[in-house]
Amino acid sequence: MPMVSRTDAERESANGRGASHGAPGPVLLADLTSPAFARMRERAELVLIPVGAHEQHGPALPVSTDTLAAQVLCGLTATLLEPRVVVAPAIPWGVSWHHQGFPGTISLREETLMAIVEDTVRSLHGFGFERFLVVNTHGGNNAVLHLAVERCHRDLGIPVVASVYAYALLAAASDDVLGPDATGHGGGDESSVVLAMRPDLVDRSALGQRHAHEPLRRVQTIVRAAGGVLPIEQHRITTTGVTGDSSEATAEAGQAILGRAANQLRAIAEELIDVDIEQFRP
Ligand SMILES: [Zn+2]
Repeated sequence: MPMVSRTDAERESANGRGASHGAPGPVLLADLTSPAFARMRERAELVLIPVGAHEQHGPALPVSTDTLAAQVLCGLTATLLEPRVVVAPAIPWGVSWHHQGFPGTISLREETLMAIVEDTVRSLHGFGFERFLVVNTHGGNNAVLHLAVERCHRDLGIPVVASVYAYALLAAASDDVLGPDATGHGGGDESSVVLAMRPDLVDRSALGQRHAHEPLRRVQTIVRAAGGVLPIEQHRITTTGVTGDSSEATAEAGQAILGRAANQLRAIAEELIDVDIEQFRP
């Protein structure tokens, strides 16, 4: 992932060994030893939890597209706010039943995703973390994640725990960078982002294949614009699995999109760090 590649010194620092003689890099909890985790715990205030999906993204993009985007966005945000923010391991699966008509999709049951999020938060809360931000890049996860953070607050007593739909940040940035026609599942927005993160995983010869069933897509868009949902299997909306135009996708556009979205995420994270936690305690 070129966007978040780190030097050896930064890696050392992220592991808790080099903080005194160099700028710390983004802290990925998965990279830490247990003692390094304990040292990091002293200075970190907010845990980001990336949540993606393992689902078809058309003929050009990997099934890990959403997970990669969530991971990279969290890494960029942690870099912007180091050392106050740490990144939990990405949850690589989501609720993707509507993509099951395409080969390669793995979908969790809603209660499974709910349990993974709750158990992650519960475990880290046990080490003293009190602020969490779930960073979700897959729309199918939203309903579950809204309930999950509510239960974490109400039932587990976690003071500050929020969930944001980070794909919306990417899509809004893409509307500006590439124009609205590029925005959509497997579209120019996501294709550009993957070209920026992992160009080796993109089949460029397959970019630009959309073939969406526009009447169905339109009615779904109308319902979503009103804050609603209209459940329907994805293969009925698009024969290729793609709904946005990816023909103009570039790595440069992807870097611009990721940078804008990460800046917005940073602003949200800063608010969560600075807010008076006493107002959130049960
Ligand atoms: Zn996606």
